Amino acid sequence: MLNDPHSHGLWEKTAPPAPATQPLMGDQQAEVVIVGGGFTGISAALHLAEAGRRAVVLEGADIGFGGAGRNVGLINAGMWVMPDDLPGALGDIHGERLLDMLGNAPRLVMDLIEKHGIACELERKGTLHCAVGAEGLKEITERASQWQKRGAPVMLLDAAETARRVGSRAYAGSLLDMRAGTLQPLAYVRGLAKAAIAAGADIHTGSRVVACERSGDGWRVRTDRGSITAPWVIVSTDAYSTGPWSDVRREQVHLPYFNLATQPLSPDLLSSILPGREGVWDTKEILSSFRMDQAGRLIFGSVGALRNTGRAIHVAWAKRALKRLFPQLGSVEFECEWFGKIGMTDNALPRFHRFADKVVGFSGYNGRGIAPGTVFGRTLAQLVLCEKTEAELPLPLSDPKEPALRPLKELYYEAGAQAAHFVGERF
Ligand SMILES: Cc1cc2nc3c(=O)[nH]c(=O)nc-3n(C[C@H](O)[C@H](O)[C@H](O)COP(=O)(O)OP(=O)(O)OC[C@H]3O[C@@H](n4cnc5c(N)ncnc54)[C@H](O)[C@@H]3O)c2cc1C
Repeated sequence: MLNDPHSHGLWEKTAPPAPATQPLMGDQQAEVVIVGGGFTGISAALHLAEAGRRAVVLEGADIGFGGAGRNVGLINAGMWVMPDDLPGALGDIHGERLLDMLGNAPRLVMDLIEKHGIACELERKGTLHCAVGAEGLKEITERASQWQKRGAPVMLLDAAETARRVGSRAYAGSLLDMRAGTLQPLAYVRGLAKAAIAAGADIHTGSRVVACERSGDGWRVRTDRGSITAPWVIVSTDAYSTGPWSDVRREQVHLPYFNLATQPLSPDLLSSILPGREGVWDTKEILSSFRMDQAGRLIFGSVGALRNTGRAIHVAWAKRALKRLFPQLGSVEFECEWFGKIGMTDNALPRFHRFADKVVGFSGYNGRGIAPGTVFGRTLAQLVLCEKTEAELPLPLSDPKEPALRPLKELYYEAGAQAAHFVGERF
């Protein structure tokens, strides 16, 4: 995308083409303008169009240009915050509502994929949250028991069963979450966009919003070459936000995250590494993740940006880490490399904002945006359709607030990941 092989890497190489779209030209009317063409915006457009509303998406670059087209592809249920801590962080009503909504969100993703026949390499094989050492085991044991208390289909696996499933003896155990799975994220968002267009939505790419101003009872949302006037505006620009809602970007601390994809592995290796095709991430502070794509490439990721000195450091570390995790792999070369920025909030929870009357959005997914973005997009559509009120949303209303020392924290994440991978953080 935009001729940058480090932006969307493997996903750009293997996703079906995006539906044909054009930049916005001239002035138009709509019922809802949606700014941003990622999971949140496209899901909102799809659900609004299916309800017969004229919804227009304005995307500054291409469909999936932001986090949606760069991520690992783990369809997670829930957030980083422990389930029992959510009611404490948000109050009982919002906490329980959010848990319920996010616990069920992977099912919505899978149902939409099935309903619209989206070819996006969906694997419904669950995810393994792998424990590193005794501390990691303590964490996942507690997490498993909190989810099990709520009836979620999660299971604690011992070290031997984890080794059998992962193909590595590196872990003290794992939490298997059968609600979750993996997909090809760019293919998924492009497929959702195709479904939204088929349902009647308009999507304009290359249409960066530069201003939003009052026009009668509604809003005039302007790009360089045109405008849309509508009563409602949905802001779904998240960590990549520019223009009138750059507050959303400033509210988050960007954590860089990279992925490297091997060439397709041999049948022998595929029978020993993730033979069940679960998606994996671990409990380390500078975490690692891995999963297979449909062609059998191993996709390995961790914190860091593949730029400046970072590229050589992270790639060299990943080769060492893979050797330790999977000695059977031998030495590897990577077919694709890419990275993006994950927007982290100060309490690791997403936000609901009303920027002005009928100008609303969710953001701040903390690296968990596939399922939450899809379900929150539908929730925004329900708000516009008056099927839900603000009081019934899964998050309380909040104002965007810049965290203290944000630029320093971002520097720390990028430099800290380089330092950790340079001195040889194991895997
Ligand atoms: C490297 C990486 C790994 C991740 N791994 C996972 C994972 O495994 N599982 C998971 O669930 N989540 C993961 N995430 C998080 C997930 O990708 C995001 O949470 C998700 O993409 C958020 O969706 P969104 O639609 O809200 O925003 P985005 O997908 O970021 O889309 C926002 C869009 O808004 C557009 N935009 C911004 N400003 C304007 C403007 N002024 N005018 C018009 N358009 C504008 C951008 O171009 C962009 O396309 C990861 C993220 C990254 C970066």
